[in-house]
Amino acid sequence: MTKNFDIIIIGAGPAGSAAAEKLSKAGFKTLLLEKQKLPRDKPCAGIIPPRIYRLLGEIPDDVIERKFNGYHLFSPSGIELYSRFREEGVIVDRKKFDFWLVERAIGAGAEVIDNSRVEVIDIIKNEIKINNKFYSKILIGADGANSFVRKRLGREYKNFAIGVQYTIDLPDDVTCEKIGGWFEVHYGIVDFGYGWVSPQGGKIKIGVGSISNEFKKNSKQYLDKFVEYFKKKKEIKNLRVIDFQSHLIPADGPMGKPCEGSVVLAGDAAGFVNPLTGEGIYYAVRSAQLAADAIVKCGGDIEKECNAELGKIKLNTKLRDEVLLNAGAMEDYVRRLEKLG
Ligand SMILES: Cc1cc2nc3c(=O)[nH]c(=O)nc-3n(C[C@H](O)[C@H](O)[C@H](O)COP(=O)(O)OP(=O)(O)OC[C@H]3O[C@@H](n4cnc5c(N)ncnc54)[C@H](O)[C@@H]3O)c2cc1C
Repeated sequence: MTKNFDIIIIGAGPAGSAAAEKLSKAGFKTLLLEKQKLPRDKPCAGIIPPRIYRLLGEIPDDVIERKFNGYHLFSPSGIELYSRFREEGVIVDRKKFDFWLVERAIGAGAEVIDNSRVEVIDIIKNEIKINNKFYSKILIGADGANSFVRKRLGREYKNFAIGVQYTIDLPDDVTCEKIGGWFEVHYGIVDFGYGWVSPQGGKIKIGVGSISNEFKKNSKQYLDKFVEYFKKKKEIKNLRVIDFQSHLIPADGPMGKPCEGSVVLAGDAAGFVNPLTGEGIYYAVRSAQLAADAIVKCGGDIEKECNAELGKIKLNTKLRDEVLLNAGAMEDYVRRLEKLG
């Protein structure tokens, strides 16, 4: 069986589905290939600031774990401050949120095939052949931090953080009393990273992420230490871990020129992640939508159009290097924010 498409997209995360929805709506015959069985989960704290509404409109209640007000920051010495959004953001269940985006893509006309790992990409002049089975003119690699498409292009992405987290049972009344509607960011837990607590419905996600090599070697120990610190600070005796997750997070911001010929990289595959915070869902959707818009309006030179559009997302490592260097730098940063009030 062979099949011809205008566009093939690899990876049904937020980037892949967002691109598939836009391109299908514009009339492109679109195939979205996902290696896992859908719906699939993704290691994530599920935090999305309110700017996501500008890209996706309202987020349905059944994919939301909880709404949140903003960030509750803790400096290494214990200074605490709240940074409130103008409107509430959402903390989502990634399995449900990502599948909602897949369904939007299907609703727009995309064909989706799950359990379908892409292992062979042939690029012959103007034609792209996937797994010796599917053909298209254009390929979008939305296949995450470990992107096969990026490797196939021979492009390197150098610096990754690792994020590790537990999902922990916690009744809603305890969550409301001890955490409230805030995403907690704890500095001083690890160099070149931070610890987080994400309140969900009936559970919390508690994690640590960093780019330091020392952390990468002992990430689980750092996480266990952070959980002990959290229990003491919040005066909670017992916490029941129900899941452990770990994954790479691109940490150097977007790679330059993520489109080569008629192959475009979007989302984590091209490093569209905030290097200070590790936040990537918004940027995955935005980069995918920009790439899709560029393809739709493009008269011929996809590479030029896509690279120009994707170049609009400005994320660099300046703040990361300034803030996450060590406990002293983190302390200064929180004190600076405290003065801004
Ligand atoms: C511990 C942790 C916590 C995080 N917390 C947050 C947070 O709170 N908020 C936030 O905004 N971001 C967070 N992030 C980052 C966020 O998860 C990513 O930035 C986001 O998922 C990127 O979306 P994507 O669509 O580019 O890639 P992904 O969501 O990774 O999707 C890629 C898809 O491609 C598929 N795939 C891969 N290879 C192939 C192949 N060869 N063939 C077919 N399919 C393939 C994968 O199975 C996957 O479904 C966190 C990351 C980690 C690790």
